[in-house]
Formats: sequence, structure tokens, C-alpha cells
Amino acid sequence: MKLTFLGTGTSTGVPQMRCNCNVCTSSDSHDKRLRCSAILQPEEGKPGILIDCGPDFRTQMLREDCPDISCAVLTHSHYDHVGGIDDLRPYSYAVPGEHFPLYCRADVAADLRARVPYCFSEAPYPGVPQFDLRVVEPYKPFMLEYAPGHSMEVLPLEVIHGRLPILGYRFGNFAYITDASVVPPATIEALRGVDTLVINALRHEPHFSHLNLSQALDVIKLTEPRQAWLTHFSHQIGLHSELEKQLPENVFPASDRRQIIIPDDKRLDNGNKNHLP
Ligand SMILES: [Zn+2]
Ligand SMILES: [Zn+2]
Repeated sequence: MKLTFLGTGTSTGVPQMRCNCNVCTSSDSHDKRLRCSAILQPEEGKPGILIDCGPDFRTQMLREDCPDISCAVLTHSHYDHVGGIDDLRPYSYAVPGEHFPLYCRADVAADLRARVPYCFSEAPYPGVPQFDLRVVEPYKPFMLEYAPGHSMEVLPLEVIHGRLPILGYRFGNFAYITDASVVPPATIEALRGVDTLVINALRHEPHFSHLNLSQALDVIKLTEPRQAWLTHFSHQIGLHSELEKQLPENVFPASDRRQIIIPDDKRLDNGNKNHLP
């Protein structure tokens, strides 16, 4: 599997508008962070799975040369994670007559119907994106078909974002958690044994709705992934080049456009390797 980070910044992005701090004025491209999103490509030559669709989606996709995606999984409905939904229109007509699948919690589905009602109307205006909302629940695995005849099991995981329960996702050997402030014990359990973990780490100081760096490192210690990548950074995390030096050996700061390879789950190498046992 291959993961491409489309964005690694918090809700304001980095640089933050009207800020003159050393991070916001840095000339290092690693310090330029669009809003948080990623594409997981389960198989070479097959379409990817979009993880969240923030307001920078269009810019991010053009920057990556518009890779093929066949569906999206959403973590929650805050603007920085779904603000680019309308820009999915070129993807929502990839298969004629088929709507673009969005996997999300029931509350997120309700929010989307309210935010972009014209996408769900009985007689939609020609050209508006058409979505197939597929409601998923924490700890209930589902089969996600990312290409005709090619599917993988995905496990939604609950994390708490301030007071809001939201979703992270485990895809076989890989898990993606963003916007968590608390990772409940059941999710810690479900993350054990994962090869690669992506997890949010806003800044050094505590925050009411996001893990800070030391809390994110605690989750990594408890779940013991082979490698962990931090994302959803505020400018307050400091310079990327400084942050790199402060982290344990198997923990890395993600940056926009960075790609990582996730090995197939060895336990699954018995003929049907894209399915969890
Ligand atoms: Zn966010
Ligand atoms: Zn700044």
C-alpha cells in the first residue's frame, strides 16, 4: 500500500494568515502545510481511497496531477475535513450512473445533507456532484471496494475530538487517526500490531480538542507500530527541520506530498491478502 499526504496542517493551515512567526515565514517547503487529508492506494495501478476532503482538496489534487480515487472515508464533518466536498464533482461521474461513495458516521452524513443539500436533491442541478453516503460505525468492519472486484476490510475506530466522537480508520496494516484528543482503550487495542500509524500532534502545549506531541507519543508507545507519522500540525509545532530531531527513532513528522510505503500484512499472505483475518 502507498500513502500520500495531501495536507498535514491544522484547520488554519501553515502558514497561518497574518502570522509572522519563524514557521509561517519559513522558506522550507516542509513548513507549508495545507489542510489535513491523504490518499491510500491499496494496490499499484488501482484507484486510491481519499481520507477526508478539506477545503484545499482541489489544490492538493492538481498538485499531485489528479490521481485516481474511487471513494472517500471521512473522519468528521468539521470544515477542514469536508470543506472540499463540492470539488469531488470530476470524480463523482467516473462511472456513469454511479455516485461517489462517502463512508462516514451517521452524524456526518446528516451534516453533509444539510451543508450541500443540492447534492442530495431528488432532481439535482446538472453537474453537481452525486454522492452515495454509506454510514459506518466504530468497531464494525466493512468491505470497501476500491476497484471493481478489488476490496479490503476497513475497521472504523472511535476517537474523541474535544467532546465529539469521531472516526479513525484501520486498513489492514495501516491506521489513520486525526483530530483525536483522547484515544479510548478499545481503539488502542484495535491499533496494536499495526505496521504504520498516522496520528495527529497539534503542538507542544496541551489543547482541549487535539493531542499534543507528548500525548501522541504516548499513544504510539502504547500501540507499538513499526513506524508512526505525525500530522495535523499547527505553526506552534515549530520548524519541521527542528521537529525531526526531537522525535524517537520510529516517529516522523509528515509533510505535504510525502509518500510512504506500507508493507502488506504478513498474516494475510494466504491467498486473500487484502482481507483481514
Ligand atoms: Zn482538523
Ligand atoms: Zn505562525
